[in-house]
Amino acid sequence: MKINIASPQIGKEEIKAVTDVLKSGMLAQGPKVKELEEKFAKFIGVKYAIATSSGTTALQVALLSHGIGPGDEVITSPFTFIASANSILYAGARPVFVDIDENSFNINPEKIAKAITKKTKAIMPIHLYGSACDMTKIIAIAKKHKLVVIEDACQSHGAAWKDKKVGSFGTGTFSLYPTKNMTTGEGGMITTNDKDVYEKANLLRAHGSKVKYYHDILGYNFRMTDIAAAIGIEQLKKLPKLNKARQKNAGYLSKNLSGIAGLFTPYIDKNVTHVFHQYTIRITSEFGFSRDEVLKKLTEAGIGTAVFYPLPINEQKVYRELGYKSDTPIAKKVSNEVLSIPVHPGLKERDLRYIVRTISKIKMQNAK
Ligand SMILES: *Cc1c(COP(=O)(O)O)cnc(C)c1O
Repeated sequence: MKINIASPQIGKEEIKAVTDVLKSGMLAQGPKVKELEEKFAKFIGVKYAIATSSGTTALQVALLSHGIGPGDEVITSPFTFIASANSILYAGARPVFVDIDENSFNINPEKIAKAITKKTKAIMPIHLYGSACDMTKIIAIAKKHKLVVIEDACQSHGAAWKDKKVGSFGTGTFSLYPTKNMTTGEGGMITTNDKDVYEKANLLRAHGSKVKYYHDILGYNFRMTDIAAAIGIEQLKKLPKLNKARQKNAGYLSKNLSGIAGLFTPYIDKNVTHVFHQYTIRITSEFGFSRDEVLKKLTEAGIGTAVFYPLPINEQKVYRELGYKSDTPIAKKVSNEVLSIPVHPGLKERDLRYIVRTISKIKMQNAK
């Protein structure tokens, strides 16, 4: 038995779409990128979408489009992929890390206000694992202090807070990397209702030029190709079905793994539509084996797992050298307990049964 932690769902539709683009002769950014942008904006429920070369460049362009730069502070979570915080550094600003909530794994809104200074320009909530942050509280804080909200929705295509999709509360950013809920190979997307941000992002993505070879601002080459966009158009059509499959798999796992001492299944707030980019359990001392021992045993049984993420960003070497300290104890604690197990749409019922059976067996070894 071999079950991978992720499995991109590529079918004949994607293959045909790519072949059609290759035959068309228009390979770089063109009509397919435009079509994907329009369809993605409609899916999220915003006026505009801008496709980029990755989720990381989407974050960077989103920050720069809001005028965030040197001297500014951006409040974010330390419990995320490094790209979230790095994008703030790329923009020349300084990430300020606020600890997470132990159950949701997301930034704790109660702790945001205390981190606001005169330099704070934005809040960047991360909707981790396919969940949604408490956007009611975050938007209220942002309004009160006149802060920009840049949502890192790189793991949450289609997730919602109170039935409103993430990426539509502030300016949203998405990754289209192969392991994400939908893919273009590499790619990213910015979503916004702000026309100025849309126009600025368009400039930044393509060397700061509106008219070819006339450059108004310092821009980049962060374009998506039409080859990638053609894959994305087909993936977006399948996304609701793929997300449903993830939710169904998660439901099976939660039903069959609940009640095991020392194993916590994902907590889902009643206001959250969770799209399970990851299905992440917590293993605490009561389980009898450490998280790393469980990981090893699952690997031996052919079950792919991953730790997202083993070290909070403020404790990474590159950040320590910038003067950051270990001052987010919940993120630190949780980083030693989390374990993501397969939930992707490619799983068969027998895979799910095998995962549950294997974990139950590991637990029983301890009981002996
Ligand atoms: C994947 C991811 C990114 C970066 O996206 P890339 O497409 O890999 O550049 C940023 N933030 C989070 C939370 C992610 O999961």
